[in-house]
Amino acid sequence: MTAEPAIRVRGLRKTYGHHVAVEGLDLEVHRGECFALLGPNGAGKTTTVEILEGYRPRSAGEVSVLGLDPAHPTRDWRARVGIVLQSIGEFEALTVREVVSHFARYYPAPRDPDEVIVSVGLAAKATARTGNLSGGQRRRLDVALGMIGRPELLFLDEPTTGFDPEARQEFWELIRGLSAEGTTILLTTHYLYEAEALAHRVGVIAAGRMLEVATPATLGGRADAATLVSWDGPDGRESTATDTPTAEVAKLAARFGGEVPGLTVARPTLEDIYLAMISKESQ
Ligand code: ATP
Repeated sequence: MTAEPAIRVRGLRKTYGHHVAVEGLDLEVHRGECFALLGPNGAGKTTTVEILEGYRPRSAGEVSVLGLDPAHPTRDWRARVGIVLQSIGEFEALTVREVVSHFARYYPAPRDPDEVIVSVGLAAKATARTGNLSGGQRRRLDVALGMIGRPELLFLDEPTTGFDPEARQEFWELIRGLSAEGTTILLTTHYLYEAEALAHRVGVIAAGRMLEVATPATLGGRADAATLVSWDGPDGRESTATDTPTAEVAKLAARFGGEVPGLTVARPTLEDIYLAMISKESQ
């Protein structure tokens, strides 16, 4: 990671008429980092990402993406940025291989189209017309088009919506591979476990503002949050929230004289923490 961040945003504001979609947002994504933007529907994630991609004008604030203001993109800059659009529509009659090869020609140093098709799990569909792909397969094609140009920075807006669980796991492996090669990734997702699986840091946006930026392990005080120890007592399910779960389990083991029936020990998930943050914000 070099000193200059891949993305630097200061005081970003975006209004649509009287509606303020993004309000004074700050964001810094380091080179080589995988960063996930989280937030409820309408929070301003897509608006922010599209401003960073150079597809939407902003109302105010400073934005630098790979050292350039995306409001004035150059051809060279476009070639360094990979974008996964919501969905391609106009290539229904072409095959997967034709579309990927076609897009490869836009870039100075593209990846090999066939390797990309394999890596997104579309090898069996390489000669299928894109109009005949399922929703999840189409999304994989979108991702293939985002990575074909060997981008330094890859934007992924809700990339695994419509994926089955196995496809999602394969996709995560792909993204981890790109991340390990040094690609900077900005991801938006509604799947908290996806953010946890992929992101070095996450940022939570609500009502156009950044509430917190942290690692998935420390967001919202998660690292210090109490652990819930639960078991089957004589009168039903019992539980206690504790900072010393090991001691609590030892006490229970002594009380039950061995195995504790139905014992579970759970730290709050990223989703628990996120939902608590969002509900506090909307009160
Ligand atoms: P989701 O999780 O549902 O994708 P999001 O966080 O990406 O939501 P945005 O799409 O950025 O949210 O929308 C932020 C706000 O701006 C919403 O209230 C939305 O209705 C509004 N908005 C977005 N695009 C436009 C537009 N072109 N014209 C007017 N309002 C818009």
